[in-house]
Formats: sequence, structure tokens, C-alpha cells
Amino acid sequence: MNVLVINCGSSSVKCELISSLKGQSLGSAQIERAQEAKPVLHLQGCFAEYTAALSDCPQGIENALNWLLSAIHTQLKIEAVGHRIVHGGVYFDQPTLIDDSVLERIEALAPLAPLHQPPNILGVRIARRLFADLPQVAVFDTAFHQTMPKRAITYALPQALRDKHQLRRFGFHGSSHQYVSERASDYLGCPLDSLRLITCHLGSGASVAAVEYGRSVETSMGMTPLEGLVMGTRAGDVDAGLLIDIARKENLTLDQLENLLNKESGLKGLSNGSNDMRDILQRATEGDDAARLALQVFTHRLRKYIGAYAAVMGGVDAIIFTGGIGENSPTVRHRATQRLDFLGAILDEDRNHDLKLSTVEDIAEFSTPRSRVKLLAIRTDEQRAIATQTAQVAAAGAKVNKIPTIPIAVSARHIHLTQATVEKLFGEGYQLTKRSDLSQPNQFACNEQVTL
Ligand code: ADP
Repeated sequence: MNVLVINCGSSSVKCELISSLKGQSLGSAQIERAQEAKPVLHLQGCFAEYTAALSDCPQGIENALNWLLSAIHTQLKIEAVGHRIVHGGVYFDQPTLIDDSVLERIEALAPLAPLHQPPNILGVRIARRLFADLPQVAVFDTAFHQTMPKRAITYALPQALRDKHQLRRFGFHGSSHQYVSERASDYLGCPLDSLRLITCHLGSGASVAAVEYGRSVETSMGMTPLEGLVMGTRAGDVDAGLLIDIARKENLTLDQLENLLNKESGLKGLSNGSNDMRDILQRATEGDDAARLALQVFTHRLRKYIGAYAAVMGGVDAIIFTGGIGENSPTVRHRATQRLDFLGAILDEDRNHDLKLSTVEDIAEFSTPRSRVKLLAIRTDEQRAIATQTAQVAAAGAKVNKIPTIPIAVSARHIHLTQATVEKLFGEGYQLTKRSDLSQPNQFACNEQVTL
């Protein structure tokens, strides 16, 4: 199945056409700086072929995406569209076929990811209009982490408030954590359900996950993508008391506080201006103290999480580095993994230094051969992960949609159905065959059975 994957962000859009069978990319388009007067466009494969005659890309995410997709939508053979959606809240633990009600739920979650969810939704709206006949699937960053236990997702806040506003930890970057876990399992030749992995996704946004026997049991991002590691412009973990104090002293509004934590902090705040790890590394080498401190704080926090997650799982079999920084920076990998011998992870300095990943060589080991815990760098491919999941849902979707949606209540051994539902299932006026009374008044168990 040819799947068009759309990842629509606040200032950039990535589209890729992927043949899901082999995960092979047929072409890609990336629009960067979409909000500026002259957006930058990178085209590859079939996208380059079909958009060659176009005029300049217009300004603004909506215009740019409309422009791009309108140009290609009659030319490419597309069978399904997969959308990266950052927040699935408590509703979505799987990739889901998008209909009006699914889209409504996704929209209701926008306040939980104000930077990411609105552009994601825009991408869905444009694609639904242009590819009205195709199945559209939402693949959620949060879905993989829905297996986290209560102790990991619960904030120590009053229950009434938690219940009222669904305050809990969700975690993000799920497609990437899941994808690199699966690649590690292939590489190590061990089934995922026998491995304890720590996956470090280090890009502009960054998070760590503890993947125990194939299930995410902990991750560093929380209810929003702001918790956890130091990121390009996001602060990650900060004492909540400090925020209250600084808001009072500086008279900050909530919007200003949000801006400070999301856009002015992290590497940018620490280094006085640079949110790009390449610049930080360069400046640190030249002796810039602020850049050195930024690097130290970034890697110290990462080490702290690695140690914590090994403790959470009672051990670890492999520690995986991915994302732009994790895949490309020997310095960051070195600082995060040196002196982890006590855990059984022994860094090989030469292998780490010489490591180069590519589309062909997408995994490399940088621990010594006798290291019990493997240190791995793996090239993530979120678009491919989204394409695979989209193809699965789209293929099953046609069948699933023919079955009516029926609300049920599940008790220990029965499912409870209303008369309206019974008629929907068995036909108008159908009466169930009573077998025995239940303790609930006017309810009885019947002979008919329903497969869930
Ligand atoms: P995004 O979250 O935007 O997809 P990426 O995964 O592309 O981000 O990662 C971006 C980060 O990777 C930037 O901080 C960039 O500096 C860093 N990066 C890219 N290449 C290198 C490199 N060779 N060395 C160190 N950092 C790098």
C-alpha cells in the first residue's frame, strides 16, 4: 500500500510517500520556515518530479500544504494517508481511522499540546478535503505509552482535581521509541518481550523511555511535551515552586510563562541563544562557558534518567540513542554513557567516535564486545513507522467500519446491553432468551452470546 505520511508542525511540514510493504520511500517533500516570506522547500523522488513546474511555495502552513498537495494529488498513486498527531489523550491507544467524531476528540485535546496539535489538525483538514475518498489514519505520539502503569502516570495532586481535568502523564515520541525498540530487537536477535530497553530520543524535542518486555513503562515527558530532558528551547524538569516564585517576581502572565518555558529555555536559555546542539558543541570546543554548561546540564539530566530507568526495570539489556543528536553526536553519547560499568554497560570510545549511520547502516553498536548491556545508535524513522501503522489500520478499516458501534458495559462475566442495542444486534423486536436472574433488579443472563 502506498501511504502518504503527513507531519504538519508549527513552522514546517514533512510529507513522505512510502510503500508500506518494504517501508521504501518513493519521495518526500519538506517545507521549512513556512511562516516566513520565502519558505524553503526540499523535494526528493516523485515529489520533485511532479512539482517541478510549480511557482514559489506560498507563505503560511495552510497555504504551503494546500499548494503542495494540490500539485501532487492527482499524480501520485496514494492509497491511504497517515497523520502524525501529537496528543491522543486518554482516548487513543492505537492508530485510529479518522472520522468526524475522532477529529472532534483530537481537537478537544489541543490545549494539552498547544504548539503541536493545531498544525496537526490543519494537516488532517487539508488532506481530508483533497483526498476525500482515501482512508485517513491518525497515529498518536502518546499511544505507545498508554501501557504505563498508574504509579508512573499519576501526579501527586489532589484526586478531585486530577479527575476533573484528567491530569496525568502521557508521554510523547511514541512512534520513535517503539520503532527503535523493534529495530533493536531485530538487531540483537532477541524477541522484544524478553528485552529491557532504555530508548533516548534526542532531537529538538527529547525524551527517554523505559521499554520493558515490549511495553513502555516509563517516559520522561508528561501531560505535555514540556517535562523531562533539557530540549532545544524547552526547559524540561523545573521545580514547580520556582515557577510560582518567578511568575510573582517578574509579574508574568500565564502566556508569558508558557513562552518562557517552551521557547526561551533549554539549550537556548542555557547557552544565551543557541538551540542547536551543533552550535553548542562548536562553541563549547572553542571554550565558551555558557555552551559548556549547556552541554553538561543536557547530558547530566540524560544520565540521571538512564540510571533511574534501569532501576525502574530492575536492569537493562540495551541503551539506545536516536534522533538528530543521539544519532550524530559522539560527545553526547560519550558523556551520557561513560562510567556506566556498574550497570554492565561499557562504552567503546573508538567505536563511538567512528560511528556513522545511514539509510543502509541504520544501527551501530558502540559498547565493547564484552559489555553485557549493549549501547546502540539507531536511525529513527518516524515516517516509516507511521506508514506501517497506517497501512494496517487502513487495510482493516474497511471491515471494521461495517460493524455498527455499540456501547456496552462490561462486568466480571457479562456484558450488559440495552434493548436498543439488542435490537441493533439481533433485529427489531428481538427478545433475548432468559437463562437466569441477576442480582441487579430487572436484569437477567441470557443464552445469546456476543463476541467482543
Ligand atoms: P526534530 O525533533 O526537529 O526532528 P532532529 O531529530 O532532526 O529534530 O534533531 C535536531 C537536533 O539534532 C539539533 O539540535 C541538531 O543540532 C542536532 N544534530 C544534528 N546533527 C548533529 C551532529 N552532527 N552533531 C550534533 N548534533 C546534531
